[in-house]
Amino acid sequence: MQRKGLLGQLIQNLCCLPGVGNKSAQRMAFHLLQRDRNGGLRLAESLLEAIEKIGYCQHCRILTEQTVCDICQDDGRDQSQICIVENSSDVWVIDQASVFKGRYFVLHGRLSPLDGIGPDELGMDKLEPLLKSGAVKELILATNSTVEGEATAFFISQLAKKYQVPASRIAHGVPMGGELEFIDSSTLMHAFNGRREV
Ligand code: ZN
Repeated sequence: MQRKGLLGQLIQNLCCLPGVGNKSAQRMAFHLLQRDRNGGLRLAESLLEAIEKIGYCQHCRILTEQTVCDICQDDGRDQSQICIVENSSDVWVIDQASVFKGRYFVLHGRLSPLDGIGPDELGMDKLEPLLKSGAVKELILATNSTVEGEATAFFISQLAKKYQVPASRIAHGVPMGGELEFIDSSTLMHAFNGRREV
């Protein structure tokens, strides 16, 4: 049953969240209205503020409320290494793992001609001058290991080649603690192709 009025509208709008269908949206709406109106107000306020004030860093396109993000402003980070990721959330994951101390560049998607996502949508107009400047000594391609992610990594590696910037692809493979018999064949293929000397 499609609910009418403000409640129906709220439920419908909650469905814009990823993974939230009509049932979950209903549960959320009833919870907020019946049990946590203050929480609902705080959510509404911070949503409004975040959407008004958060934009993209003008250098690396990370989501930030500043013109230039904290990572780009941090002199302690290696300015000559740039890690290319698909989403801002990937930056959080890599940074929390403390495996990389350079800078990032966020594509906000991946090449997908059928969806109308080409090089312009991925910010190549911002990345190309960086590569051209000679300040970047290494490009690490950390796009996802999907067909589009691989195509995007290949496209950017060609761009890097044009400016003689060495590019590497992160290895995708067997997870720590993972057992070979439970791993799918394409992951295993990546693991073999990304092998290194021990
Ligand atoms: Zn930045």
